[in-house]
Amino acid sequence: MTDLALENVSHRFGQLLAVDDATLSVAAGEVVCLVGPSGCGKTTLLRVAAGLEDCQQGRVLIGGEVMADERTSVPPEQRNVGLVFQDYALFPHMTVRANIAFGLQDMGGRQRDERIALALERTGMTSHAEAYPHQLSGGQQQRVALARAIAPRPRVVLLDEPFSGLDASLRHRVRDQAAQILRDSGIATLMVTHDPEEAMYLADRIAVMNRGRIRQSGSPDEIYLRPVDGFVAAFFGDVNRFDGKVENGGVDTPLGRIATNGTPAGTRVEVLVRPEALEIGEVADGFSGAVIAARFLGRSSLIDVRLADSAGTTVRVHMPGRLLPEKGAQVRVGRNDSQTFVFPRNDA
Ligand code: ATP
Repeated sequence: MTDLALENVSHRFGQLLAVDDATLSVAAGEVVCLVGPSGCGKTTLLRVAAGLEDCQQGRVLIGGEVMADERTSVPPEQRNVGLVFQDYALFPHMTVRANIAFGLQDMGGRQRDERIALALERTGMTSHAEAYPHQLSGGQQQRVALARAIAPRPRVVLLDEPFSGLDASLRHRVRDQAAQILRDSGIATLMVTHDPEEAMYLADRIAVMNRGRIRQSGSPDEIYLRPVDGFVAAFFGDVNRFDGKVENGGVDTPLGRIATNGTPAGTRVEVLVRPEALEIGEVADGFSGAVIAARFLGRSSLIDVRLADSAGTTVRVHMPGRLLPEKGAQVRVGRNDSQTFVFPRNDA
């Protein structure tokens, strides 16, 4: 069952088309992450879903009912939506309990107390009910914001970069807990993040946005392993990029010939090879080059190699474990066919 549906939503600020024909749905209990570079329109799309911006074009449906289109606009507080936005900070002069109670004003005292107790318990904040926000850590404040959003039992929760103010270890913990709580509550969750790793980690589905358009939506696997274009491929990690022209079913690159599976001869293409498709070692049919930099990242190592071809192409290799050859060391770079993508060039 689709709980949140955005259909062909477009939004302009003056001349600027901030959201361009975006279609996206979120089912009950599903976590969808909306990712993309700064300024691509993520927050605007979320604000249209929440009712904080008009729906200038397209439709917003919640639980199958039209919340907004070019004519209708149900106010945000009547949309059955919980918001965890940075500009929806906790009220500083109210306790945690009072912050959560704020969204439950229509309810009788007993029911309200039960809802507050449950939201506190779910977010692990019961023992802090009487604290004021300034007495809590950043992670605890985020959990209260989540408790406040889920207490009215909304169908949909919209979160905008909810964990960006937290340091790395706290962020991991708080976001895991938050995603679990939202899934367990059967809420449809749409979360904006600019961090591709966070999206890969948390989402059931990812929607990748660029320049107002949703370029691809799918499971983290699909997005990473079968990106629809060069932008999506490069957004989810480093890539080695080469330009070329299709001849006889393949394209020549500094890392050898790559099959182009049906792309017509003469097409100008970009070839993207993820660094993990490359390896350094005793590779008989590899390409020789000299190490120009090597970095150990903990679980893996990154090595930049200048190939011995006439153009002096530099490639990046990502290998598991610790491998730190000396700068200048002569190595051979091998390539497997995984994680290699060929796309027609848009500008060609
Ligand atoms: P970020 O990750 O940096 O928050 P975003 O993907 O959320 O970016 P939006 O905040 O949706 O992007 O902004 C999309 C575009 O619309 C940007 O170019 C931004 O400058 C512009 N924009 C956003 N809000 C307004 C506004 N109220 N008035 C005019 N332009 C706006």
